[in-house]
Amino acid sequence: MAYAYDTNNIFAKILRGEIPCNKLLETEHSLAFHDIRPQAPHHVLVIPKGPYVTFDHFALEASDAEKADFLTAIGNVCKALGVQPGEGGAGYRAISNAGNDGVQEVPHLHVHILGGRVLGRMLERAE
Ligand code: AMP
Repeated sequence: MAYAYDTNNIFAKILRGEIPCNKLLETEHSLAFHDIRPQAPHHVLVIPKGPYVTFDHFALEASDAEKADFLTAIGNVCKALGVQPGEGGAGYRAISNAGNDGVQEVPHLHVHILGGRVLGRMLERAE
């Protein structure tokens, strides 16, 4: 089943300029902005401008130019936040939730970049 993109999702509205965001950086194919409900001192969302629902959707259907731009934008967000371990930063976590089991709230691909504190284990253990 192919992905159906909901053009009324909140990130589509941000991309169309219908609602504001706290922008960190923008490129030809990508946008990065601060999460409205931060879960760590640094919490930035990086999104492609194209209509992709999930990470796998983007990975399989985006152009090489979009993919290169998106990955570079993620790198530049880490650089702007000063969290790159290779540059003396304290590190970060990149997360992309997808679908029901991934508990994805907004159906437009976004990668969360979280940092600024020790983030704990990746997942809670299922009891
Ligand atoms: P997810 O559960 O991975 O889909 O995460 C969606 C994220 O979008 C959550 O962390 C929300 O706090 C964030 N979010 C929702 N609306 C906005 C908005 N208008 N501006 C910035 N972040 C938002």
